[in-house]
Amino acid sequence: MIPTPDPSPTPDPSPAPAAPRSTPDRPRDLVGIGIGPCNLSLAALAQPLAELDAVFYEQRPGFDWHPGLLLDDARVQVPFLADLVTLVDPASPWTFLNHLRSRDRLFPFYFAERFHLHRAEYDAYCRWVAQNLPGLHFRHQVDAVRWNPEREVFEVDFTQLDADGEAEALGRTYTRNVVLGVGTEPYVPEPLRPLVHAPGAPVVHAADYLAHREAILAAGHVTVVGSGQSGAEVFLDLLRRRPAGREALHWIGRTEAFAPMEYSKLGLEHFTPDYTRYFHALPEAVRDRLVAAQWQLHKGVDAGTLAAVHDELYRRTLHGGWPDAVLTPGVRVRTAGRLATTRVELHLEHVQQDTRSRLTTDAVVLATGYRERPLEGVLAGLDPYLRRDSAGRPRVDEEFRLVLDPSVTGAVFVQNAERHTHGVGAPDLGLAAWRSATILNTLTGKETYPLPGRTAFTTFGLDPHPRVPPQGAKAPALTPLTDGR
Ligand SMILES: Cc1cc2nc3c(=O)[nH]c(=O)nc-3n(C[C@H](O)[C@H](O)[C@H](O)COP(=O)(O)OP(=O)(O)OC[C@H]3O[C@@H](n4cnc5c(N)ncnc54)[C@H](O)[C@@H]3O)c2cc1C
Repeated sequence: MIPTPDPSPTPDPSPAPAAPRSTPDRPRDLVGIGIGPCNLSLAALAQPLAELDAVFYEQRPGFDWHPGLLLDDARVQVPFLADLVTLVDPASPWTFLNHLRSRDRLFPFYFAERFHLHRAEYDAYCRWVAQNLPGLHFRHQVDAVRWNPEREVFEVDFTQLDADGEAEALGRTYTRNVVLGVGTEPYVPEPLRPLVHAPGAPVVHAADYLAHREAILAAGHVTVVGSGQSGAEVFLDLLRRRPAGREALHWIGRTEAFAPMEYSKLGLEHFTPDYTRYFHALPEAVRDRLVAAQWQLHKGVDAGTLAAVHDELYRRTLHGGWPDAVLTPGVRVRTAGRLATTRVELHLEHVQQDTRSRLTTDAVVLATGYRERPLEGVLAGLDPYLRRDSAGRPRVDEEFRLVLDPSVTGAVFVQNAERHTHGVGAPDLGLAAWRSATILNTLTGKETYPLPGRTAFTTFGLDPHPRVPPQGAKAPALTPLTDGR
């Protein structure tokens, strides 16, 4: 059943009446933890389902998509069709196109012919959804989730935060099901940790880049560590803002090259439900090997950004001379420390050359990536019920439910915490709507959102049920396997 679309073309911005409080006897159907794009997608697709009582909690004061990297030129790396809902329900009132209509911007967008949105525009679209959807509670930090076996409900404890982020009040809600969409957090590798939190020269993670850009630009020499997309964007932004010939920039990274992200059409089919299902059915050891081997599907740099870096460097050679910028891949930071209070020293190693050197710099941007936010804190109360794989990670079934002891009658779904079980598509915005719809279909026990049976031209794995060839076509001869493979 496709939910009836909201008859009003523009969502009603007036806040919906607050849902009655939950009690152990009247639990909610679903509590969402975290409101990033993944749970926002779920909330948008859940909104027309009158039978589903759902609320979502977010610790921040409002929706905010990676604010430290909302650079002017940065674009989302998936087409605008990968908004919160379109790929499962193009008739939803929460599409990007409906957002444009509500802002009278459809015609300019049509003439702009932009398939890939500016990141700031995607953020503005999500804010519009977040401001108009009922059931979203900001400034609510979820502290713990417990299973109450007598009442057969989850207890979700939260802290209400004031405008300064300080605890204001404690609360609890009861629910039959939970969906975690807590996202990722900035990661700093061990050798670089001594630089963080120490006073003196600015050292910031790329996630906080924009808030500190002026201080970084004021530094004499700047080093960007990390050769992924964030590193490339920060390096490009600094390069464009430093005077020609006096750039004083270093860009170093561990990867053996400033490698482009895989963006071929068939390569992108790794971000389909077909591949996700195939991956989920593989043995754990094979899945782990694949995720590492497929780094270029998610860790490389967008080819357009690499081209823009080269263009900017080239432009700076037009009048003779070379820019004062050093770009070196294959470099590992062994150790790092502060020199007096104003400088930083990085001890570097070139793995291929087996050489070492020191780099003294006045500011460092750590574009060293993100890691899934550990679930252990919030889910500590569920630990006795959690089933884990051989590496101690939570097991996640095909419908994105944590595998729990069978005595637990409720479900805990995860969004973007299942790369080890569902593959490289877990953080990809292009799969968010499909995953949300899969979760809602599971929750409602019916095909609330019909989902496509086939999504890729590639057939992943050998098909145990070969297709019947069209009439008149000759079936290819199948060689029977005789050696037990
Ligand atoms: C800079 C950057 C750019 C990206 N660009 C793209 C792109 O172009 N295309 C693409 O496909 N993917 C992209 N990604 C990857 C991914 O899609 C995004 O990271 C996306 O934001 C993931 O959404 P999420 O909802 O899982 O998590 P998040 O956006 O991280 O949101 C999680 C939210 O949960 C909240 N939270 C956490 N714990 C609690 C708690 N205990 N209580 C209450 N709230 C809590 C957090 O405050 C946060 O707001 C990008 C990632 C980054 C870092």
